Amino acid sequence: MKMTCSECGIEYPVSSVAYCCPCGGLMQIVQELGGLDADRLKRIFDDRLSERGTLHASGVWRYKELIHPQLSSEQAITRYEGNTGLYEAESVRAFAGVDRLWLKAQSENPSGSFKDNGMVVAVSQGLSLGYKRFACSSTGNTSASLAMYAAWSGSEAYVFVPEQGVAAGKIGQTLAYGARMIRFAGTYDDGIAFLQRHAGELSLYLCNSVNPWRIEGQKSIGFEIAHRLGWKLPDWVVLPGGALSNVAALGKGLRELLAIGLIDKLPRIAVVQAEGSSPFHRMMAAGSDMLTPEANPRTRASALRIGDPPSWKKAMVVLQETSGVTVSVTDEEIFAAKRVVDRSGIGCEPASAASVAGLRKLREEGTIDRLCTAVCILTGHMLKDQESLDMYPHEPDGASGQSRPSKGAEGLYPDAIRAMFGAQG
Ligand SMILES: *Cc1c(COP(=O)(O)O)cnc(C)c1O
Ligand SMILES: [Zn+2]
Repeated sequence: MKMTCSECGIEYPVSSVAYCCPCGGLMQIVQELGGLDADRLKRIFDDRLSERGTLHASGVWRYKELIHPQLSSEQAITRYEGNTGLYEAESVRAFAGVDRLWLKAQSENPSGSFKDNGMVVAVSQGLSLGYKRFACSSTGNTSASLAMYAAWSGSEAYVFVPEQGVAAGKIGQTLAYGARMIRFAGTYDDGIAFLQRHAGELSLYLCNSVNPWRIEGQKSIGFEIAHRLGWKLPDWVVLPGGALSNVAALGKGLRELLAIGLIDKLPRIAVVQAEGSSPFHRMMAAGSDMLTPEANPRTRASALRIGDPPSWKKAMVVLQETSGVTVSVTDEEIFAAKRVVDRSGIGCEPASAASVAGLRKLREEGTIDRLCTAVCILTGHMLKDQESLDMYPHEPDGASGQSRPSKGAEGLYPDAIRAMFGAQG
């Protein structure tokens, strides 16, 4: 195993605390795949599916050989992250318009988002290096995840959260886990720039996705999907893009599965951005290879409000390797998709619904064929963003929503109750 710069290739010791090379490139972990036997790994991973209460019962550490083989098991922490459901919901499939669709519900992670898959590895690595103080900049879910693992490991979390535009539930969750929160005027991008400059002198272990161990852990999302589907992936994997760490991780993990021979074909990857916050999509659509940051990113899907995505170069390579595509969707399209996902009984936060909205749009544009199979990654839990749930009692068609009782329950019968049945036809 090595740590190298993803751009100039210069090598660093695996135990380095390095995020960004002087050349500007992000660090990456290079796994040693040569000695790994696909059939043997399949047996090991299958056997671990029946474990309970052990490190390998984690949906991340189950794949430890491919994520962090050198970390001793005593140094790895876990909340049994991963192990999330892969669902087929007919209503969502019909909405998206493909032949077969699975939803990977990363919302089922212990802190409610996919950030746990990567954070558990970054915090374990920081602990093994002797760190007691961890930090991140966040649009909400990263801070909640870091705060959870810091609390769980008896360490301190320092989280930098923009003053505006972060869902209140995520802030409350982060504080409830006991993190120290620094609110600042600016965006996620300003917070990450500050931490990249100052984390070292403040003895803070930086747990944003510029930390290469976050990427190693997030690969497990793709591993779980492949494992569940018998090491055969669908034609497309569709996911929302903010900082673009998740697409970088997905691509890296799948590339490694292919190199080992655990899968024999890569899926195509589609990255969906929110229209007001889509610098990566604009770059790809223009056929450019230089990202122009968005100074004032805007969308109601707050987890996607990132104007200067750190992992854009890694994401670009992934799209080149997988014949991938990008698309942007409006907030209206995101909320239309969210409504379908919520009503399917799964539910998700707005940013997650961008994946389903994007798949539908790519189908309509003809980029994705009707006969295709796809996985959409649902990145975060519906309870994360209370503000976006507040609109439901006021739905215009009356097909769901609450009555506004002025009497006790018996007093509502029969008129108000019948009226509700009537509205459903
Ligand atoms: C972080 C996050 C994203 C964006 O993922 P990136 O790796 O930053 O591209 C999408 N949805 C949710 C719910 C998130 O928390
Ligand atoms: Zn470099």
